[in-house]
Order: sequence, then structure tokens, then C-alpha cells
Amino acid sequence: MIDASIIDGHNDTLLRLLETENPLAAFTDGCEDIHIDLPSAHEAGLAAGFFAVFVLSSEEHDPISTADGYEHPLPNAVSHDDARAVTYRTLELLSRLAHEVDGFRVIRTLSDLDVCLESDILGAIPHLEGAAGVAPDLANLDFLYSAGVRSIGPVWSRPNAFGDGVQSRYPGNPDTGSGLTGAGRDLVQACEDRGIVVDCAHMTEQGFWDVAELTDTPLVVSHSGVHELCPHSRNLTDEQLVTVAESGGVVGITFHEPGLADDPDPDAEITAETIVDHIEYVSDFVGIEHVVFGSDFDGARIPDAVGDVTGLRVIVNGLRERGFGDEAIEKITRGNWRRVLAETW
Ligand code: ZN
Repeated sequence: MIDASIIDGHNDTLLRLLETENPLAAFTDGCEDIHIDLPSAHEAGLAAGFFAVFVLSSEEHDPISTADGYEHPLPNAVSHDDARAVTYRTLELLSRLAHEVDGFRVIRTLSDLDVCLESDILGAIPHLEGAAGVAPDLANLDFLYSAGVRSIGPVWSRPNAFGDGVQSRYPGNPDTGSGLTGAGRDLVQACEDRGIVVDCAHMTEQGFWDVAELTDTPLVVSHSGVHELCPHSRNLTDEQLVTVAESGGVVGITFHEPGLADDPDPDAEITAETIVDHIEYVSDFVGIEHVVFGSDFDGARIPDAVGDVTGLRVIVNGLRERGFGDEAIEKITRGNWRRVLAETW
């Protein structure tokens, strides 16, 4: 059963469920419109995932053409009050699902994670994708922790009280703005004190270096790609990959087509092979211990070859065909995530 239990580093399934008329039924019985529901997660062998709380921007941010590619206008900040309301509503939905859906639970501890890895129960690690719902003075951080939050990305790709998010550009490098604010540095320290993962996905390059300097825990970038293979501003440079590896951390490779397609067309498609290319690059360059899955199911344009969460099998098979053995696949699919969570929580 070497491939049976997978930990995936990022999904926006709660956002999709919030938009669904009957989220409990959709999640329990399955729903064609969402990538992760309970039946398909079981079929895929998904044991645990980072379930993001995400606050939508009020304005659209479709890509606009540039001389050699495209970029997304940086959305405006969302007010803390609005973000907090959405954050609490999303955590309330997660709590309802965990209480009312058999075979689904919230993961708060390493032993909760191990229960999911060793059983048919799917576990959700609550994650904040952008911390706009956290009070700038951190007054509600302990409340969020008690609600189960075990991972926080201080920024999404827009500004907030904690820092600037990276602007999406192709081609582009991650150095698109300033790093953490004073409140952002306090948030990173407070997360370290409580054993909350700090996720550097969507950070500017300066924000990434700020986190690297502030923390002694393994660095995590939950859903990103390799800049050397695809010069998208959200992807990690070789220097960043080395820094993540030296900290003992992990990079989750996203399945998001525009993030991995080395193509100036924002509608370009990729194959499962492209995802394997990014995983293989990180493994060859800094070591197998530092690469994991960070799909972005329900938040990204997923390649047809993958389709939904059941397509995790396609990626695992692709890794096998590329020569990754049982031990390597165990690390990529769950061992590396488990190691980092054991060190952080
Ligand atoms: Zn994201």
C-alpha cells in the first residue's frame, strides 16, 4: 500500500463548498464541480490536505497582456473586518463538515494526522491563505488556533497589514515588492511560538527572505513551482530552493497550469509530465526530502490529464515511470510533509 496515503499541501475546496447550495451533501456524496469531495478523495488515497480559508477580492484580476507575456493587476487590500467575517464563516463550515460527515475530521496534532494516514478518514489541516482575517495586533490569533488553524500564509497576492503579496507575472521574477511589515514579523514570530506553519507561497522574494531570517523552523512553500523551468513570478529561484532545503523544509509543487507552463499565453495547458518535471528538478537539485504535492485543487486550472483529486494517481504513476522508487514516492507523497509538521507543530 505504498501509494495509499497522500498528504496534499493546498486546496481551496472550502471556498468552492461555501459557494455550493448544500455543501454537506456535495462533499459527502460527491460533486462534479469540485475537485475534492469525500468519495473522490477516498478513491485517490488522499489522507490529509491543507484546506485553505481564502477571502476573494472584490474586483476581478484577469490577466492583461504585456510585451512578452502577461501579468495580473495586483488586487486592492480587503478590509480586516470583511476578511475576518469570511474567515470565521469558512472555519464554521469546516467545523460543521468535521462534525457531521463520517470519515472526515480536522487535524490539529501529529497524532490526528497519523490516524488519517493509517485509516480511511480524510483529514483537513486548516490553513489561512493570506492572513487578512488575522487582526493586525494578533488579538484573534489564539482564537483561530483554537478553531484548528495550524498553517498561515501571511499574504496572498495582494497587500495586507502583514506584507505585500507577489504579483503574478510571466515572465517575471518573485522580486515584485516589499517584504513583511512590522506586524508581519510579529505574526511570523507568534506562529513560531505556537507551532503554526508559516507558508511562504504568494510571498514576494523579500518576504521570503524576511521569513527565512526570522524563523528556525523548516521553511514551507505550499504551492509553487521551479523558476528555472518556468520563469513565472510565483515560482522559486534556485537560491530560494537551496534556502528551503537548508532549513529542512519543503516546496509543494502546484498543478496550476499557468504557474508551470513555460508559455506567454496565460491559457496555455500542461501535461502531467510537466508536474513531474518540476518535482524531479527539485529532487535532483536539492534532494528528495524537500519536494511534496501542493496541488491547488479547487483553486487553480488543473490539467485535463489530472482532472481532479483522483488524478493524484496519474502523478504518482508519472513519478514511477520517471524512475522514482517506493522510498522516494513515500517521501514525496507523505513522508516529507509529516517530517516538517512533526518539527513545526
Ligand atoms: Zn494560491
